[in-house]
Amino acid sequence: MTGSSGGPAGTAFVDEPAPVAGPSEADWAAAVAAVRDLPEDPEVLLICHVNPDGDALGSMLGFGLGLRRLGIRRLQATFPGPPEVPEPLRGLPGAELLVPADRVYPAPDLMICFDAASESRLGELLGRLDTAGTSVVLDHHASNTRFGAVHVVDPAAAATSVVAEELLDRLGVPLDAAIAECFYVALATDTGSFRFAATTPAVHLMAARLLATGIDPGVISRRIFDTRPFGAVRLYGDVLGRARLEPASAAGLGLVWTYATLDDLTRHDQRPYVLEPLIDSVRCAAEADVSCVVKQIAPGEWAVSMRSKGRVDVSRVAVALGGGGHRFAAGFTGRGTADEVVDRIREQLDGAVISDDSEGCRPSGRA
Ligand code: AMP
Ligand code: MN
Ligand code: MN
Repeated sequence: MTGSSGGPAGTAFVDEPAPVAGPSEADWAAAVAAVRDLPEDPEVLLICHVNPDGDALGSMLGFGLGLRRLGIRRLQATFPGPPEVPEPLRGLPGAELLVPADRVYPAPDLMICFDAASESRLGELLGRLDTAGTSVVLDHHASNTRFGAVHVVDPAAAATSVVAEELLDRLGVPLDAAIAECFYVALATDTGSFRFAATTPAVHLMAARLLATGIDPGVISRRIFDTRPFGAVRLYGDVLGRARLEPASAAGLGLVWTYATLDDLTRHDQRPYVLEPLIDSVRCAAEADVSCVVKQIAPGEWAVSMRSKGRVDVSRVAVALGGGGHRFAAGFTGRGTADEVVDRIREQLDGAVISDDSEGCRPSGRA
């Protein structure tokens, strides 16, 4: 865990973790069988993680549309917490499958989870794992806890939609424009619009397959990434204006951070989803390897987004503080004041620096 050479003096380094294996043929076969062997006219429940992003909703709804093509009629898609879809994602094809969490089948024949690294990301829907006939987990987080019965988890996949597309293919469902739009939104979201290091040749080949269905990437990207209310623009000014740079944090690699309160949202008449892109502006600061946005979700409760440019494993910090994520994009729920939350992050950062002599400096930015 610690003690490698090559970094700032006195720093405890994180060694490179062994590469995590992707799904085996047996995993794929089990997932295919879970769908193929369903009883007559089954109930199928799709669940993605709380506070869903483009990959969570896009992979779930795209896969749901694929199941529709297979003739599955009784099909629900949901996520824990308030049933509010972020405005930019409301127009996704398949949105008609969405049902509030308190109205879903109590004991579906099959439950499929999307983009959730652990049970905790299923919130109040966790109990469905026990009442469902069987469960399949489609995910790409290396930290996936292998909850549920069947796991198709590929840490090498840039998005959960990569896994979902392959499973639809193995089920014999061809892509159409509606499925492709969902998967494109998922892929573009988790690769930062094809900018992060997770943007492999395989990602571009998948994007090519999706675009070949006739979807319009310009229109989709503008709606998903580049359309926010004017009030959000003013709110960004306030929040970015209070960003702080701490060059000495993270063993001298630097931390840049800011926070947004419920009062900020109220003052500008905005919904919480508008805060999500802020981390991308904060992490631009060249002087810091680590960036962080602390977003108030309730009095004394904060959703924390962290990013690293490659020298720090922020998932270590997030896991230590009760959350999770990827090495270069992670988060957790913090309690207390924003300053107290950042104090706890600072304490963890020194121990999360990646050794220079490892091959760990490949930021993916994946979410
Ligand atoms: P975000 O900053 O919300 O885009 O999240 C970045 C990454 O951290 C994603 O992979 C999330 O799944 C993960 N993440 C964020 N918040 C949490 C949390 N409270 N618990 C576990 N994982 C989280
Ligand atoms: Mn996600
Ligand atoms: Mn994802």
